Amino acid sequence: MVARQGELFSSDIPEWELDAASSTLAALIAFSEPPFGPFHYRVPDELTLSLKPGMRVKVPLGKGNREMVGYCLAMEVVPQAASRLKPIAESLDLQPLCTGNLLKLVDWMSQYYLTPIGQVFEAIIPAGVRTQAGTRMKTLLTPAPNVAFDPNRENTGTGTSDSVMNGLPTKQRHVLQQLILACEPLTVEQLQKMSNCSSAPIQALRDRGLIEARSERVMEGEDGFSTHANKLLQPPALTADQRVALVSIREALDSSRHQTLLLHGITGSGKTEVYMQAIEHTLTFGRQSIVLVPEISLTPQTRQRFQDRFGSVAVMHSHMSGPERHHQWRRISEGEAKVVVGARSAVFAPVPQLGLIILDEEHENSFKQNTIPRYHARDVALHRASLERIPLVLGSATPSLETYRRAQLGKYKMLNLPRRIHNRPLPEVSIIDMRHERIDPNRGSLSKPLHEAMKETLRANGQIILMLNRRGFATSIQCPACGHVVSCPDCDLPLTHHHEGNKAVCHYCDYTIATPPSCPQCKFSNVRYTGSGTQRLEIEIAKGFPNSPLARMDADSMKKPGSHERTLSDFRQGKTQILLGTQMIAKGLDFPNVLLVGVINADSALHFPDFRASERTFQLVTQVAGRSGRGEKPGRVFVQTYSPEHPAIELAREHDFLSFAKQELEHREKFHYPPFASIARVIVRGPDAAATEAFANVITQTAEKVRVSQGATDVRFLGPAPPPLAKLKTFYRFHVMFLADEPIVLNRLLARIQADLKTPKDVEYVIDIDPIDML
Ligand SMILES: [Zn+2]
Ligand SMILES: [Zn+2]
Repeated sequence: MVARQGELFSSDIPEWELDAASSTLAALIAFSEPPFGPFHYRVPDELTLSLKPGMRVKVPLGKGNREMVGYCLAMEVVPQAASRLKPIAESLDLQPLCTGNLLKLVDWMSQYYLTPIGQVFEAIIPAGVRTQAGTRMKTLLTPAPNVAFDPNRENTGTGTSDSVMNGLPTKQRHVLQQLILACEPLTVEQLQKMSNCSSAPIQALRDRGLIEARSERVMEGEDGFSTHANKLLQPPALTADQRVALVSIREALDSSRHQTLLLHGITGSGKTEVYMQAIEHTLTFGRQSIVLVPEISLTPQTRQRFQDRFGSVAVMHSHMSGPERHHQWRRISEGEAKVVVGARSAVFAPVPQLGLIILDEEHENSFKQNTIPRYHARDVALHRASLERIPLVLGSATPSLETYRRAQLGKYKMLNLPRRIHNRPLPEVSIIDMRHERIDPNRGSLSKPLHEAMKETLRANGQIILMLNRRGFATSIQCPACGHVVSCPDCDLPLTHHHEGNKAVCHYCDYTIATPPSCPQCKFSNVRYTGSGTQRLEIEIAKGFPNSPLARMDADSMKKPGSHERTLSDFRQGKTQILLGTQMIAKGLDFPNVLLVGVINADSALHFPDFRASERTFQLVTQVAGRSGRGEKPGRVFVQTYSPEHPAIELAREHDFLSFAKQELEHREKFHYPPFASIARVIVRGPDAAATEAFANVITQTAEKVRVSQGATDVRFLGPAPPPLAKLKTFYRFHVMFLADEPIVLNRLLARIQADLKTPKDVEYVIDIDPIDML
């Protein structure tokens, strides 16, 4: 029997109901694979007291009674007539993996992101926790109940204990006494050590039924959880702007209500210090905080900063091993961590007394997960904070327009840090119009002004950051004789030439071949490598500035664990003078001696077929420019572009977020894009182009019918059409875009479509709510 959705976690079962002879206790069980359920199962007597929502169970499924692991969503009393239900075979957890508001959050995510609830559980509970990584089974020994526990009565000559004891051989008596005296369960090894004996007398006592053994899972080894024993650092004095912002956050914390606050602070204005002091205030009433940062900002420097201030900090990032994750999860749920600092998934940290959520760099796309359940950590954080009735602080120098708009409308409280700390000036930004730059092979990708500025900066012992948002050596390999472009057979996209290893790589699916020495089509031997990537830039800079140590940071050079940390630490210590890389180096870095930032090609994101292309360019240029001049000496920025008059670039030069937001919001309103509409994207893929397109058409036909039946006249849909990545990893792709004024209308429509659609063999589709990726 399929149970209905909604209001899953509201039922508390009064104890008297369990005794009623006319009813059965059932649990609602959901699965992470089809059929997702949830289905009712009977709770066997031995589990009535221990089974709780949020635990996993083993149950039989279907005619063959296939054994499945499912999640218990709720318990309810059903009429006796329903007692034909199959029983739960086994409970897999001693404690729920998820309780209270987290369970409600899972339920909300399932409905909002149109994802089966079992898949949401699977996504938010780390695999290391589900597999209990880093633990092992241990046998624990206790005296049998008929052996008295009171060691003081040992020699009184009365009582069961003594009569039992006296009948034993000396060795066994000694062992049993040791176990009784220990007053806690012991392992076989511990008991052997304490009574200085072999395992034989222990086994003999177990055979006599005087010692009982049970198995329990215990943690093994140490983990990366840090508790700082040293004296904690004291908070520094705040600027007037910081104080005003902090007062508002403290008021929100004191109110015991949910409120979202947007901390809009320019680069270098000291947002992190405001977060820290807000966390301190949260600690005064015994509550913990979660701080979400983009994965890339989770540098050792960030961790250290929180540890020095708060001592017990749990850090969660994607490079953690299963056992590490499991340990962190346990300690967080036991309330040991005052602060959890982590990337996207830390929004699900099982903090017992959550008092505050902070989401730094809230505009960052990495907060959106691009696999099921495709959630955005900002929206999940908002929902969790509202369930917990606590404040959520969103921070950014370049807020997303969605967030900024809500703050403008008064839904979020706006807090401003309009000045850098110590009133340091923002760097002066020069735009270099590359249309008028003479190409000079000696300078490579560098314009004359940037080249000159680099020489000056190095002479003054300053450091330089150069950003080129493309990895590899050349973005295309083309034959000038016949025009052939070396492409990926699975994606139909040009391969990128990598100098390291002389290989040609598809950046969408990692298809790799040796770079052909001559044209595969016409055998012409002088193939052309066009479009510069970071590897070419590195070679050019090394040649042009042979005496200045440099480092490259991109996904290729940072593959080894720890390389990220090493590179940044070398740069901090001045061992390297020039740091070049992809957008990896654009954000969050704080090096006081960086006096020059160069953007090699500001247009790389500008001409993407995406309504957020301008916003992304503005954010990227503003963020990378903000790395300059953070110390006592003023900084400079050079931005190379072929579109110098584009507003995103002009306004980034002026550091003028407000004007940019105003212009861009007008544009979005005119074209009915977010934040003035809710958007969803349905992506269809399959190995056969015609079948895939046919199914995409079925989707729009179904959508049209549902739109009429629901009277959802404001819903628009665009497509089906091939997306910019029309073929990916051998699959043909089509997408349909849905737009509506209200998210709830869109949700209702898509839920209906999802229920009505019958997916043919060999075609798949996904629904992406609030998509960020439009490719
Ligand atoms: Zn050719
Ligand atoms: Zn490919």
